[in-house]
Amino acid sequence: MQEDDPKPVESRWIDIGANLTNTAFETDLESVLEQASAVGVQQIVITGTSVDESRAALALAHAFPNRLFATAGVHPHDARHWDAQCERELRKLMTDSKVRAAGETGLDFNRDFSPRPAQERVFEAQLELAVESGLPVFVHERDASARVATILKSQRHRLADAVVHCFTGDHDALRAYLDLDLYIGITGWVCDERRGQSLQQCIADIPDDRLMLETDAPYLLPRTLRPKPKRRRNMPAYLPHVGRQVAHLRQQSVEHIARVTRHNAQRFFRLPSDRVDNDPAASDQDRPGCC
Ligand SMILES: [Zn+2]
Repeated sequence: MQEDDPKPVESRWIDIGANLTNTAFETDLESVLEQASAVGVQQIVITGTSVDESRAALALAHAFPNRLFATAGVHPHDARHWDAQCERELRKLMTDSKVRAAGETGLDFNRDFSPRPAQERVFEAQLELAVESGLPVFVHERDASARVATILKSQRHRLADAVVHCFTGDHDALRAYLDLDLYIGITGWVCDERRGQSLQQCIADIPDDRLMLETDAPYLLPRTLRPKPKRRRNMPAYLPHVGRQVAHLRQQSVEHIARVTRHNAQRFFRLPSDRVDNDPAASDQDRPGCC
């Protein structure tokens, strides 16, 4: 951070899930990254949601070495488009050293944009790719925790690791995932006084060594940001806000949350250990939703 930057960096953070290939970032990505660095968010894992988006995520990771990394996968919303060509392309992408996880992949029974049998088939196919590649899995789950836990349980012994990203479940879902020794990704959902209640009630039950943080930008703008950003677009620069809410709910210090979540992300995604980056900037913007 530059000496004339007005925002002190209280801690260093890693955003394990940002959709930086989204069109919301197409005109000002460099500024978005600068704003992230200015508040201590120095490394970001870009979520790959389709073959094309995964390829674009990988290109960004190569353009910003040691700062951006990528996952490669097909979101359950797009499971109906899965074919042998997808599988071949993903297998190839996963050989690139900048790809640090398989996914996002999983089940979304909330919106059901793809038929459930197709979602399950494509989830299982991507778990096979994770086994082949030795990569950990970046899991998307919405209203499908029982099926996701069952499928992961059958493959857990073959998988390096897995994180349930943007966890929005309750005590039972959390227990099922922790029993499988999974990591849990927490977003600004935890700042939502309406939808986030069950998450707020169980977040203290996540062991320190299973907890990771993410924005899911440009989606899930934390509702408690003040002043409210003019643009309703979420950004990695808002990750410390999520971290502070998590610290408050767990009755731990912000520095502690930053440190354990950073170390977990470094271990899970095999990221280079702590580095200090210099970058300026400040501004605000946003918009809601979720992948
Ligand atoms: Zn997701």
